Amino acid sequence: MDRPLRVAVVGSGPSGMYAAADLVAQGRATVDVFDRLPIPFGLVRYGVAPDHFSIRSIRNTLDLIWDEPDIRFLGNVNIGADIQVDELRKAYDAVILTYGASADRTLGIPGESLTGCVGATDFVAWYCGHPDANRVFFETYLPTVTHAAVVGLGNVAVDVARILAKTPEELHATDMPAHVRATLASMSLTDIHIIGRRGPAQATWTTKELRELGELENCSVEVDQVGLASDAAWETDQRVALRNVEVVRGWMERPASTGRKLHLHFLARPIAAAGTDHISILQVERTEFTQSGSLASTGEVIDLPIEFLVRSIGYRGTGLPGVAFDDASGTVVQELGRIEPGLYAAGWIKRGPSGIIGTNKKDAAETVASLLADADSESLPMGDGSIDALLAERNLETVSIDGWRAIDRAERTLGAGYGIERMTISDHSSMIEISTLG
Ligand code: NAP
Repeated sequence: MDRPLRVAVVGSGPSGMYAAADLVAQGRATVDVFDRLPIPFGLVRYGVAPDHFSIRSIRNTLDLIWDEPDIRFLGNVNIGADIQVDELRKAYDAVILTYGASADRTLGIPGESLTGCVGATDFVAWYCGHPDANRVFFETYLPTVTHAAVVGLGNVAVDVARILAKTPEELHATDMPAHVRATLASMSLTDIHIIGRRGPAQATWTTKELRELGELENCSVEVDQVGLASDAAWETDQRVALRNVEVVRGWMERPASTGRKLHLHFLARPIAAAGTDHISILQVERTEFTQSGSLASTGEVIDLPIEFLVRSIGYRGTGLPGVAFDDASGTVVQELGRIEPGLYAAGWIKRGPSGIIGTNKKDAAETVASLLADADSESLPMGDGSIDALLAERNLETVSIDGWRAIDRAERTLGAGYGIERMTISDHSSMIEISTLG
């Protein structure tokens, strides 16, 4: 081929941005990055906790990638709805799917569909100001909540519990929208429970994130010690897990203090939610490790008064028409990022919801290497470059990088009014309107 490759990237989160940057840095391609939202950066904007300033600042680095003239942003285009994958494949030499894993897993317990039971994906989306979040539900329901529970022992569970536990002052410098701050501030929350089916040694959270739970202004950690007598809950030879165990042991020795309580329950799993119009009781069964290391019920069940239940038991990817997908893992079927010549994947939709943001750089590089190997062996089907005609024909309101820059400026201006760096604009039509000023 005597021209640069034409590549489409679907999703502008870290894996998509790293793939685009890698292709262009190697001088091999021009890249169009699509996102269904009018703004880029995926989970860096709508997943990383707003109070994790240094991780969120990665978007400033990702933003520099747009300075590259061979990369275009095509925001507000929903691949799979506005344009199909097959149509993209016809237009481009190669397509890389990097749209992540945005669905959540369910517990599969009775009562889980009661009002007040939500997936972490929904709650996190809401507090990050995602335009699709159910604002009406959270704004009317949360102020009634005094007892909340988060199920899962991962970093997302820690994020959710911490955001619930923090005071308005602790959240002040974040970029959360005004309506989110007002709702969280109006909550009369007294107790937050983190519930995990295994022990401190098996939790998947990282130590820095875990420690933050012990450093909150108006909330203290109380470890429920039932079930923790068993050695198996504490035993590990993993470095991070050993540090986590030390943190939990430290909390067990700390005297109780006033303010909100954050209860940590290990070896406990929800078995039912009950209530009339909304959840009011969460039934939790105590578990124990068997000789073989699996989990068994002890037969002991406790009832926790809970009005807000957040499942934080892992994210899940969803398939797209025409793309080989493995339902069990919630990922596309691929090898080294190659689904088939001309179609690739990177990030969570490739490997599942794991790792830190930096993991996506290596992951994207592997996929780009597969793509370029296919280009070198002339296995790529040639795209016809028809994307602009197709976008015009569908009459789509595409947001360009100038549009995103206009939204970016508007968020900074809005934030300045509150004495903060920026405030997220969460309303889709406002974002579109502002983008036209770019
Ligand atoms: P995760 O680390 O995989 O944690 C999922 C948790 O859910 C585990 O404790 C798991 O327990 C539990 N679980 C799964 N199925 C369950 C069930 N049926 N019943 C009860 N518990 C169940 O996932 P995550 O917290 O969603 O995080 C996703 C990725 O994003 C991770 O790589 C995470 O580190 C990353 N992340 C990082 C940060 C940060 O660096 N600050 C922040 C947020 C997210 P078992 O182990 O027993 O299965």
